[in-house]
Amino acid sequence: MNKLSSALPKFAFDNSFSRSLEGCFVEWNAATADAPKLLQLNHELAKELGLDPAILETDAGTSIFSGNVAPEGAAPMAQAYAGHQFGGFSPQLGDGRALLLGEVIDIYGRRRDLQLKGSGRTPFSRGGDGKSALGPVLREYLIGEAMHALGVPTTRALAAVSTGEMVRRETPLPGGILTRVAASHMRVGTFQFFAARGDEEKVRQLADYAIARHHPAAADAESPYLAFLEAVAEAQASLVAHWMSIGFIHGVMNTDNMTISGETIDYGPCAFMDSYAPDTVFSSIDTQGRYAYGNQPDILGWNLARLAETLIPLIDPDKDRAIETLTDVINTIPARYDAHWAGRMRRKIGLTTELSGDVGLIDDLLTTMHQGGADFTLTFRHLAAAVRGNAIPLQGQFTELSAINAWLETWRARLAEEDIDAETRADAMDRINPLYIPRNHKVEEALDAAVDLEDMGPFEALLEFVSHPFDPVDDQDNYAAPGPQTNLPYQTFCGT
Ligand code: AMP
Ligand code: MG
Repeated sequence: MNKLSSALPKFAFDNSFSRSLEGCFVEWNAATADAPKLLQLNHELAKELGLDPAILETDAGTSIFSGNVAPEGAAPMAQAYAGHQFGGFSPQLGDGRALLLGEVIDIYGRRRDLQLKGSGRTPFSRGGDGKSALGPVLREYLIGEAMHALGVPTTRALAAVSTGEMVRRETPLPGGILTRVAASHMRVGTFQFFAARGDEEKVRQLADYAIARHHPAAADAESPYLAFLEAVAEAQASLVAHWMSIGFIHGVMNTDNMTISGETIDYGPCAFMDSYAPDTVFSSIDTQGRYAYGNQPDILGWNLARLAETLIPLIDPDKDRAIETLTDVINTIPARYDAHWAGRMRRKIGLTTELSGDVGLIDDLLTTMHQGGADFTLTFRHLAAAVRGNAIPLQGQFTELSAINAWLETWRARLAEEDIDAETRADAMDRINPLYIPRNHKVEEALDAAVDLEDMGPFEALLEFVSHPFDPVDDQDNYAAPGPQTNLPYQTFCGT
């Protein structure tokens, strides 16, 4: 039962998108949910947004998170966007099952979107019901919070409710709604929507708005729109490098799922890799492996080239010259990505300085891991123990020892070139190499209990571990270990 209270939550709304960008959205209201129940509330995030968790835990909070009541100051809308999905262009996607309630200014002065996901049909729903099943809602909550704790820029989850109704999928499933918090919901696809309609003026307005909101330094550049593309490229290159450094596979890197802010968005069929293998794919719909782990850096460039195309008319009246200028920026993406990746990977193997052979050393480790079937997360985590003098946990990740032992020898020689004591080095490694990631078998266990048994216990236990991914808890190896090996590859489903 939800607690009753006469106090209403006070959201500090200031809705700049609806004020500034008429024509980029449709005002809309959520469907009503018959018997909503608040299953999860993010207290820390609520406080960050200037909200009182105790009030949000009452019926007043449940009414808002289920879409039954729009909070005071909200301007609910469905946003328009397009997107390349698995390489093919869809000129009209948009919020088909989500509503932006508005923007809240948080206690640090940051502007943050508040969105309901799964709140019913909108004019962008096409054939869909506008609803979400509860499992994917909880999955997005869990993985988003894990990513946040890992330091990855990401949208976050403020609340999850069950709606009390069943949604029709292959089988009927309990429905749910996620309340999502984001720097904004502007996507590459937002620009594509208007560019595809030849609405140059709208693309310019979007770019001006995005510069002011996300990349203000670009406004002072000689060519603000080019600087804007550079800023998005830099943010996304850093993001994808971060993903790669923790074995994260997004699963649906369509251009509508790539933000302008540089936050990870839309946790659908995503997952963390267990054994290192660059061709790992989890998504059941990614039959060609387009969004395999090892393809993510290339897709980054591909998607940003689609953003660049939308900016052509803003750059130069001479189209060829505009394309040339924009292409120069797109061509910088591999180097930007490589720099971010090498920086992270160096720190993961304990290096504090840069030498020319470092990338080769990291590549050799990855090759050895691939050949030895090593677990991605635990291999890096156990490197710190090797620094402290115990290589056995690390060696335990490999089916065959000669290759990893040879690598360890080269690595130790490289470490010896730095004047840093072992404990300081190992501690720093423990702050970049997580012990607890949302292991696929643990995620499934938590979602099954929540959805099938209405037992949130396993979900909350797992959430606690992945919210402190670097801090070991005694006797809890089962949260750190990969699941039992099966012959079948783990598959995630889009869960729309
Ligand atoms: P996604 O795969 O979540 O990135 O969504 C791609 C597009 O499909 C977006 O335009 C969504 O709004 C839309 N969509 C996904 N699921 C539904 C649904 N159940 N009802 C209506 N539209 C949906
Ligand atoms: Mg999406």
